[in-house]
Amino acid sequence: MNELVKKINALRKEKNAVLVAHNYQRGEIQEIADYTGDSLQLARIVKDLPQEIIVVAGVYFMAETAAILSPDKKILIPRIDATCPLAEMITVEDIKMIRNKLPNHAIVTYVNSIAEIKAESDICCTSANAVNVVNNLPSEKVFFTPDRNLAQWVKKHSMKELKWWDGYCPVHRRLKREDVEKLKKKYPDAKFVAHPECNPDVLELADHVCSTSGLYPYAREVDARTIIVGTENGVLYKLKKENPDKNFIIASPLLECVNMKKITLEDIYLSLKEERYQITLPEEIRVKAFEAVEKMTQVT
Ligand code: SF4
Repeated sequence: MNELVKKINALRKEKNAVLVAHNYQRGEIQEIADYTGDSLQLARIVKDLPQEIIVVAGVYFMAETAAILSPDKKILIPRIDATCPLAEMITVEDIKMIRNKLPNHAIVTYVNSIAEIKAESDICCTSANAVNVVNNLPSEKVFFTPDRNLAQWVKKHSMKELKWWDGYCPVHRRLKREDVEKLKKKYPDAKFVAHPECNPDVLELADHVCSTSGLYPYAREVDARTIIVGTENGVLYKLKKENPDKNFIIASPLLECVNMKKITLEDIYLSLKEERYQITLPEEIRVKAFEAVEKMTQVT
């Protein structure tokens, strides 16, 4: 075993710490994580963890979500600069303006958002449960923030009156329809699976649209040997590991999130050793955000 991994393991034991990692993290981090998953899975897991220290290998809003759900735990993110550009596309002033202008709309906020935005929302959602969150709301009018592509995907599966903010994931936006068309021509028997953060014209080509947690069962069960993958390339690690007999092709070489890839094993070691960087939130914001996030975790 790698010396660094041995040191990480020793620190995890000594400090009663746990490592959770998003599906977009580097393969070597997913390999040693205690738990891996998408945002919804990680939120559900983190809520019930008994350990005192939770190291979140993901982007900032994920560690913040852990801090919202587990105020008594020490939540650490190994790289403070691992941020999500989508989460920063809407400000508190923007969401307050929406609330004022559209008082009859329920505000649904994608979990890829900062705590202050969650605190101003009626409920949060992830890509795994966005459709059900919106459809289960008592309000017929919904404002969805901040991702316009996920909002439009939800709109296709909902009778609600939906408006949305114009944010987007810069990584998924890079995938173009032509990229997928070329690969479909090259691999005519392949299935194309895409994340709902992709552009609507790309999603039209998909055989299946799902969050990263939906991707693994799909890949296992689908009757195809070649699968074209329309999401961040970190998912390939587990897909290949779980399905050695299948061929996975990333739909574009541009599907890599630099922020997700900032964290290294060395960062995790230092995070555990120095207990850095701790996420703390003003209690007033945390309590308001908790309500929206907790409701999210109750919806399948
Ligand atoms: S892949 Fe997109 S949504 Fe996910 S962390 Fe990176 S920029 Fe944010």
